[in-house]
Amino acid sequence: MRERIPQRVDYQRYTDQGITLKGVISLEESHKDLVRFTKSIIENMGDIQYDLVFERDISGNRIVTGEVSAEVTLQCQRCMDNFKLELKCPVSIAFVQNDFDQQQAEDSLYDIFWLQKKELFDPRILIEDELLLALPQIPMHSESEIGKDCDVHVEFITGDDVEANDAGAGLSEQKDEDNPFAILKQLKK
Ligand SMILES: [Zn+2]
Repeated sequence: MRERIPQRVDYQRYTDQGITLKGVISLEESHKDLVRFTKSIIENMGDIQYDLVFERDISGNRIVTGEVSAEVTLQCQRCMDNFKLELKCPVSIAFVQNDFDQQQAEDSLYDIFWLQKKELFDPRILIEDELLLALPQIPMHSESEIGKDCDVHVEFITGDDVEANDAGAGLSEQKDEDNPFAILKQLKK
């Protein structure tokens, strides 16, 4: 049986011992436990994969590095159709409990995971944060799909609409159909 991701991790022990967390969060689990993520997308397409290595780096930072990935469906804000996107999130995080930790972590260019006074944390929160950060702010089809899968349908107001508003007005209906000045003519009447 597949091992479930632990829900409480002692970051000090994990980073001291160089522990690796590797596995998947199933679709079912993600619906139940990663609610923020699930609500930010149209649909999660499958397992969320994680491969995280906890350790102390040469400067003493307690860090976790690796990758989180998932495939999701988003709604394109250009054409409003859904599209699939593979999220691959490189993880490079330092655990921080005070300003000194934070300064050192930032000097080493890590992202920050604040733990305040706690030693234990839920790694699913870290995974979920990484996925949320990887989501595009404005989801859109890739440029290569524009004009193909990503096609914008714009409805223009045609002469027919003008005439429909003025049904029975008269003789020049046919002529005005393609005439851009038809509207002016209507106003003058
Ligand atoms: Zn699109």
